[in-house]
Amino acid sequence: MYQNKTILQYFQQLANDKNGCENVVKYFLNRIEAFKHLNAFIEVYTEESIQRAKALDTKRNNGESLGKLHGVIVALKDVICYKGHKISAASNILKDFTSVYSSTAVEKLLAEDAIIIGNCNCDEFAMGSTNENSAYGKVLNTLDETKVPGGSSGGSAVAAQAGLCMISLGSDTGGSVRQPADFCGIIGLKPTYGRISRHGLIAYASSFDQIGIFGNNIEDVALVLEIISGADEYDSTVSNKKLEKFNASSHNNSKYKFAYFKNALDHPSLDQDIKKNIEDLIKKLSADGHEVKGINFELLDYIVPAYYVLATAEASSNLSRYDGVRFGKRETSGTDLTDMYTKTRTKGFGKEVKRRIMLGTFVLSSGYYEAYFTKAQQIRRLLVNQTEKIFKDFDAILIPTVPATALSIGAMEKDPVATYLADIYTVFANLTGIPAISIPLFKHSNNMPFGVQIMSDKYNEVTLLQISDRILRDHKTA
Ligand code: GLN
Repeated sequence: MYQNKTILQYFQQLANDKNGCENVVKYFLNRIEAFKHLNAFIEVYTEESIQRAKALDTKRNNGESLGKLHGVIVALKDVICYKGHKISAASNILKDFTSVYSSTAVEKLLAEDAIIIGNCNCDEFAMGSTNENSAYGKVLNTLDETKVPGGSSGGSAVAAQAGLCMISLGSDTGGSVRQPADFCGIIGLKPTYGRISRHGLIAYASSFDQIGIFGNNIEDVALVLEIISGADEYDSTVSNKKLEKFNASSHNNSKYKFAYFKNALDHPSLDQDIKKNIEDLIKKLSADGHEVKGINFELLDYIVPAYYVLATAEASSNLSRYDGVRFGKRETSGTDLTDMYTKTRTKGFGKEVKRRIMLGTFVLSSGYYEAYFTKAQQIRRLLVNQTEKIFKDFDAILIPTVPATALSIGAMEKDPVATYLADIYTVFANLTGIPAISIPLFKHSNNMPFGVQIMSDKYNEVTLLQISDRILRDHKTA
């Protein structure tokens, strides 16, 4: 009934339905209940969203002016603060912690009449690629429940995939929106670093973190981006650069210049079926009259190591605040302050988070700082320089999102390094700050979906969305 519609189509439907918002909330609440076993949600705000829907219906029936997201059902990743609601980053250390303020993104959604229906499961502190590192357990991929949905925003991805909301928000530090979008067959956008305020987003790696958007069509993703982006007095890294308006028909005849990385497509880790489909897409885009050129990106193999040095270094610093004193759980059995810290952190954090805190602390330690942290910063600078050069000649870069389709549950548990290496195509956009999107185009011979990743120059999300819209319309094969 309300599924597979764009927000605009939903608005048309609402115009003739006096209790439309209430009906739609109940419809989604029923679906959430019916798909409970997917474990996508941590908490569902049942009563509250029904009350809000009723208030919105009254507002509409009274002829008052309506917000741009009037009655739109949104789900949040459990790292995005919503005042008065629990937030834990899917960690035991923050279980039962309640947000004392709302993130800027949430404030903006609410100001435009959105209905926030609940918060979604994810990897602990957004560290992971499968959603298996969660204090609330794993999330299932609706298309095949023996497979992971990806991570770290796995719950948000499944909420959008299974039609449990209209739009969901995740966070993307190294691919956590694009990778699960790819595994789930939906759209996942990571905007430019500095497009959306990080105020109220629980920090993992502050120079990479960005809120991202999951949706089932480009138009909706563009609308939500327009609403939640923009300068914010609480986050000095947000730019006040204008976001152009997305217009679905304005680019029907545009011809674009695409670059693709030849060595990314030849990478030994890339699945052959994915490779072939992306090569075919490249041919089709050329045939459509776009300019598509293969280039070699020499720094490809340095991307993952640089990301894991820098992200874990930042994480070790960001997570030092969870010591049992100010936030979340405290182990009271400690004999002195240090013992209390140790016990709290030992009990509160999961295995992967501990691994990353240790790795990050190590790369920052005196004696190793120059060899790891400084080196990785130098690589980051080279990547930024090379990327700037590429965008002097091209509108967009085409690259796979992930080297493989959704993995079986448990498949990666024993090999964290293999899991890290699978981030090869996504962490590039976070290291350089450029916007990137994963769009669902294909079906693998194993029946799982996958897409292509497109990146554009900084603050050029509208070109990115227009290109994505065109490619989805012209070349979606599944
Ligand atoms: N897989 C990446 C990691 O584990 C992505 C994390 C993210 O984007 N939050 O760090």
